[in-house]
Amino acid sequence: MAILNHTLGFPRIGLNRELKKAQEDYWSSKISRKDLLSVGYEIRKRHWQQQKESGINYIPVGDFAWYDHVLSTSMMLGNIPERHSKINDSIDLDCLFNIARGCSPDISASEMTKWFNTNYHYIVPEFYKDKILKFSWRQILDEVDEALLLGHKVKPILLGPITYLWLGKVKGKYFDRLDILKDIIPIYQEVLQELAKRNIDFVQIDEPALVLELPKKWQESYSYVYNKLHGITQILLTTYFDSVEHNINFIRNLPVQGIHIDLVFGKYNIVDFNTQLPSEWILSLGVVNGRNVWKSDLIKWFKEISKILQHRRKILIGSSCSLLHTPIDLKTEKHLDEEVKQWFSFAVQKCKELSLLSDALNNSNIDSIQEWSAPIYDRSFSKRVHKIEVEERLSKISSNEFQRIDSYHSRAIEQNKKFNLPILPTTTIGSFPQTINIRQLRRDFKLGLINQEEYSINIKKNIKKVIRAQESLDIDVLVHGEAERNDMVEYFSEYLDGFVFTDNGWVQSYGSRCVKPPIIIGDISRPKPITIEWSKYAQSLTYKPVKGMLTGPVTILFWSFPREDIELKKIATQIALALRDEVLDLEQEKIEIIQIDEPALREGLPLRKSAWSEYLSWAVNAFRLSSSSVKNTTQIHTHMCYCEFNDIMDSIALLDADVITIETARSDMELLESFRDFQYPNEVGPGVYDIHSSNIPSIESISILLTKAMKYIPIKRIWVNPDCGLKTRNWIETMSALKNMVEATKKIREKI
Ligand code: GLN
Ligand code: ZN
Repeated sequence: MAILNHTLGFPRIGLNRELKKAQEDYWSSKISRKDLLSVGYEIRKRHWQQQKESGINYIPVGDFAWYDHVLSTSMMLGNIPERHSKINDSIDLDCLFNIARGCSPDISASEMTKWFNTNYHYIVPEFYKDKILKFSWRQILDEVDEALLLGHKVKPILLGPITYLWLGKVKGKYFDRLDILKDIIPIYQEVLQELAKRNIDFVQIDEPALVLELPKKWQESYSYVYNKLHGITQILLTTYFDSVEHNINFIRNLPVQGIHIDLVFGKYNIVDFNTQLPSEWILSLGVVNGRNVWKSDLIKWFKEISKILQHRRKILIGSSCSLLHTPIDLKTEKHLDEEVKQWFSFAVQKCKELSLLSDALNNSNIDSIQEWSAPIYDRSFSKRVHKIEVEERLSKISSNEFQRIDSYHSRAIEQNKKFNLPILPTTTIGSFPQTINIRQLRRDFKLGLINQEEYSINIKKNIKKVIRAQESLDIDVLVHGEAERNDMVEYFSEYLDGFVFTDNGWVQSYGSRCVKPPIIIGDISRPKPITIEWSKYAQSLTYKPVKGMLTGPVTILFWSFPREDIELKKIATQIALALRDEVLDLEQEKIEIIQIDEPALREGLPLRKSAWSEYLSWAVNAFRLSSSSVKNTTQIHTHMCYCEFNDIMDSIALLDADVITIETARSDMELLESFRDFQYPNEVGPGVYDIHSSNIPSIESISILLTKAMKYIPIKRIWVNPDCGLKTRNWIETMSALKNMVEATKKIREKI
């Protein structure tokens, strides 16, 4: 039986981010809906063709989305939030964008959250009791027809009903969202019936929730649902991001025709797993990593898959998950050095890998895959990857390097004496408005249009402006404003050894937003100081303390493409050591308050709770390694946004930052409950206004939030600050908001 291959989905934004541009032009009425639709069509057509030409057998359809595929599923089911169904007469593209982005007058967007443990964000489905649902959005059928017409061998993709429900939230009157199954199953049946009329072999139904530790009731619903969907089309139950071995007992009894498993992120014993499956099932093996940029070791996979070939099972090989999380085409990279470039593989190259591997397995010939994977072996000897100095330093780390000299309690006494700050000290999170001029300045410098000196003079001008502004506002602890930074991770990685950057390695983050993560290729070290010049200059302008501003090791790691030849823990430790040097240099230069941002700490949590403690222990240690070298009198801050704390409070406390600033304004300070319940011992700066909105917070609204915060945290340990950095706001908004923040604080101080 020949082994066929497939991808679980392809990036949808387009090589030149055509979809992003078209979406944004459509939103600002620069192009018509028809223009937007035709951009979408051209992208799909091109991607299908590219996959086919690269040797992919089953072409995925249903992976394209106008904003997000979970939202497309809500549309398909007619599951429109009530506030939107009231104002949208029909369930159309504008309605979709309104749900994603909000619309006037004051109809809010649905929430957005991370798709499992990736950096992709989906629009959270909202469930209302007794809402009538019906098949309302034919996108999947239209696109299947489109692809069939173009002559492709089509594999439709649907997000499975249980994962869909799992990802959503009940709004309004509470009820068990599993009750909705009875309403959505008929819609899924209808869609499958429509698909069955078309010329397809099977449907990929994505149920990544199967990798989680699901409550019993949710596990049981799988049998209920798939018995109802059974018999219409062939179904490939598709799982990814981890293994499903813990659920195999009920999975193997489901009436489906096959399963896809992620062999990259799931630890499987493939031989055992194979024997546990019904013999007639198709087994789809996800071997090409859909979440990273490295060339696959096809020889390794060839050997692995060969172990089960004698079983006469029908086998497919595929990407581990959708290729959504990878950049599109390595060919367009013009600046990567040749040695490094051959280590990578983007979406188009990954298709080629699948085709090479299936050919090799079918012909029992490994010549071509040997050639393909040769650079991986060369890489293991490359000097760009392995640095003896880094290795040696890592091996010499001692346990006291993770430990501040004294406990927070003693440090706080010394720090109070030293800084002598008023009660409820005011500060900001770091960045100030990033004006067009600043962006232009950085661009000109990067392009070599201005020299280092001119650049430096202009950045310093900006720093001065930011310092004077904060002084005029009478803020207590100042920042330099981060004008020199494009992005909090890219900036640091550019100064660290061990990273490379792409010209065009964009990956969709949400809607039209894309990120271009740096790639960690080797051992990481800091050849020279990074932030000292700017921080030192800022501090020289004022008697008030200026915070040094760093991005933490965990965040740098998770917002990059990591290497795969060593553990994440080790990479984090290397970054931590580099930052430790930076912290010490800052301290040496009399920067005595240092903030180390870790917004990604929570994001790194493994999908299964059983794996949390191991992750948290190394992540916390990385932060501590970066921050613990300083004197008692040097104050360490950290900052986290959009984070829930209740289940990781012990790790937050273990970070042992003197001050943690968090985003609390939008939750109305409710996040502080966890700090109260845990009796969090150190200082906390709850955000007192939302920086995502251009509304100016009133003195009153800030006072209300601050008063509320005082119910949770003793006033002596409260700081006052906005939710997050101010880089997306303009100067007028920033000054007015901060003015009110300081005024509200002073009023409260007077009262106590
Ligand atoms: N210091 C950064 C800033 O102010 C923090 C950004 C973040 O938390 N995402 O921009
Ligand atoms: Zn933030």
